[in-house]
Amino acid sequence: MPFLELAIPSPLRRCFDYLPPKGETEAEQQANIQPGMRVLVPFGRQTLVGVVLVIKTETSVPTNKLRAIKSVLDTEPSLSPELLKLCQWAANYYHHPIGDVISQALPPRLRQAKPPRDPVVEYWQITEAGTTFDPSELGRAKKQISLLTLFQGEQKLSRDQLKADGFSTNLLKPLIEKGLICETSSPLPPVRHTQTPPQLNDEQQVAVDAVSEKLGQFAPFLLEGITGSGKTEVYLQLIAACIAQGRQALVLIPEIGLGPQTFSRFEQRFLEPMALLHSAMNDGDRLRGWQAAKSGSAQIVIGTRSAILADLPNLGLIIVDEEHDLSYKQQDSFRYNARDIAVKRAADASCPVLLGSATPSLETLRHAIDGKYHHLQLWQRAGNATEPEVEVQDIRDAELHEGISSLSLARIQDRLKAGEQVMVFLNRRGYAPVMQCHSCGWVAECVHCDARMTVHFGKRSLRCHHCDFSQRLPSHCPDCGKDELEHKGPGTERLEMGLKQHIGHYPIVRIDRDTTANKGALQSLLASVQDNKPCVLVGTQMIAKGHHFPNVTLVVIVDIDTALFNPDFRGVERASQLLVQVAGRSGRAEKPGTVIVQTHSPDHVELNSLVQRGYHATAIDLLNERHSLMLPPASFMAVVRAESSLLASTEEFLRDIRKDLDPQGGRLLGPIAAPMTRKAGRYRAILLLLMPERRELHRVLGLLCEQAEKVKAKNSLRWTVDVDPVDLY
Ligand code: ADP
Ligand code: ZN
Ligand code: ZN
Repeated sequence: MPFLELAIPSPLRRCFDYLPPKGETEAEQQANIQPGMRVLVPFGRQTLVGVVLVIKTETSVPTNKLRAIKSVLDTEPSLSPELLKLCQWAANYYHHPIGDVISQALPPRLRQAKPPRDPVVEYWQITEAGTTFDPSELGRAKKQISLLTLFQGEQKLSRDQLKADGFSTNLLKPLIEKGLICETSSPLPPVRHTQTPPQLNDEQQVAVDAVSEKLGQFAPFLLEGITGSGKTEVYLQLIAACIAQGRQALVLIPEIGLGPQTFSRFEQRFLEPMALLHSAMNDGDRLRGWQAAKSGSAQIVIGTRSAILADLPNLGLIIVDEEHDLSYKQQDSFRYNARDIAVKRAADASCPVLLGSATPSLETLRHAIDGKYHHLQLWQRAGNATEPEVEVQDIRDAELHEGISSLSLARIQDRLKAGEQVMVFLNRRGYAPVMQCHSCGWVAECVHCDARMTVHFGKRSLRCHHCDFSQRLPSHCPDCGKDELEHKGPGTERLEMGLKQHIGHYPIVRIDRDTTANKGALQSLLASVQDNKPCVLVGTQMIAKGHHFPNVTLVVIVDIDTALFNPDFRGVERASQLLVQVAGRSGRAEKPGTVIVQTHSPDHVELNSLVQRGYHATAIDLLNERHSLMLPPASFMAVVRAESSLLASTEEFLRDIRKDLDPQGGRLLGPIAAPMTRKAGRYRAILLLLMPERRELHRVLGLLCEQAEKVKAKNSLRWTVDVDPVDLY
């Protein structure tokens, strides 16, 4: 009798043994079930979807205790043996329950307890053959002829469009069978004429040659190239080389709404089928993209973080764009870093992995300097563009208009008059971060968090950015009743209002989470900038990264001080990356660009180093500092976080699990209460583990997890492990 070892989504860090479904003969059971298949299982009182990991002939569970699975949901494995192996590695590395890791590797539709059903097709497009096909060859099928003619004009049509034009989707079938039309997951129209690639400059050519040479074997690369140096062009040519060998390329991009733009830039170059796996896609499109990757039909797969867990039978190259970006790190439950998994995955698949950035993380830079990664560098902007000039502007005592200095305002006006575009960057949404009573000193604070409420003027509300709690904007001080409430400090909403007052005759486009909450809003705001007409783009980090607006010649960074003085040990690294990325939006084409950095600390050491010596030299200094302090990447870090409805319970739990553990050679600190101890009504604290050896880190973490699973949780306590955390709390 075979036993099935299953991964089941539960908080327990182990696998579960089950019996095959009842009532089948042994021969049938063995023929039907394979590792990687999804099965429906009774689990406690629930019925859950598990995935078969191993089929084995022995189990340590007494047979009378074993339960049988209810049914097998798949006819072929949903996950390949390679992917199961990767998930098991990740579960070990991140000390996370295997059941949850595997569940996250499945598209949401396949996590449900239903047999797989073909997703509803939403879009169809014309094929190569369809483009040149003469509709009259369809004979007397009049409706089909007009449908094909419509496709030849529109290229891509959605279900809704077809309906509006009076075509039933049944009519598509004969055209699909003839290979004239095909299904697609992307709502963007295909571009049928592919661009010819530009002539690479020498640095780009060196990079392309170095990686191409390693196709077919594992080789990690860092592509460190300043903003606008043509990294994307390097990616495109490498992908071409990869797919020419008949293998799939996986491109990871950060989670900043750039998916469709990147996709269309790639579509302009390649005719090969591509799949997009983006967090904002609906479940049906996600499933379709995932299937295209898994079947191997998509030769290029572009996706955000979770795409690193997509099955690719033929993987030949992985590219991680903006590898330093924080969105690669999942910040809840399974806290993996897609960039790090990418390197492991490339090793398993024996293919190159290229990590690209203008501002590489210190972790990656360390590997490059140590020679663990090949270090490729691009120091010139591509084409005729030059690097922008950066000015540090001392705003102590300066006259400010809702946060923007008179000097900056004048410069903005100059650029607009010259017919150019301006970006104003502030990493804080809302109108003002603080509301205070001038008479008694009362400050608006969240009732659920140790945090201040942000003023949102347009919505006439106070909102907590940590828990979403909101209330009406008071007109009088709730404490003393006086009418002396003041709004302190700027947010993007305030900048927008200030700019409207001073230069209202030019369009002001604000991009932040508030203006882009509705579907399609971001794309339409971006489109309003793409016509290159003079305007001011105001926004948070949503405008900082990746965008290519050739007519932006001035970037104003309203406040870098908050980021520079962030107490986290990575604060300066993050601030530097942000500053360089934002600055990099200026002067990306023919016209030279300028960047103004407004600051109250014009003598800040790293700020000046960045401006005068650039990111690389500054990062090397930061690395040396980390070494002298034995902080990552000079050592290895993990955090055990706990939260509950009572601070004492949280701390007691952490004290309990660390007990008398005292790791040799490293440090185990805590319980330490988080700086914002109370968040959304829950009290948070951590244990911090810092070890010189990764092995020792994993050993101690293993002991902590073992202990934690034994402790009876009180006061709705929850705990998580974070290996290689990007922030501490
Ligand atoms: P990065 O990704 O490094 O910020 P991009 O790849 O977006 O830079 O390139 C910036 C601009 O330079 C783009 O408009 C791109 O088409 C152009 N470009 C890239 N490489 C070349 C080249 N070799 N010759 C001319 N233009 C180039
Ligand atoms: Zn008051
Ligand atoms: Zn709150």
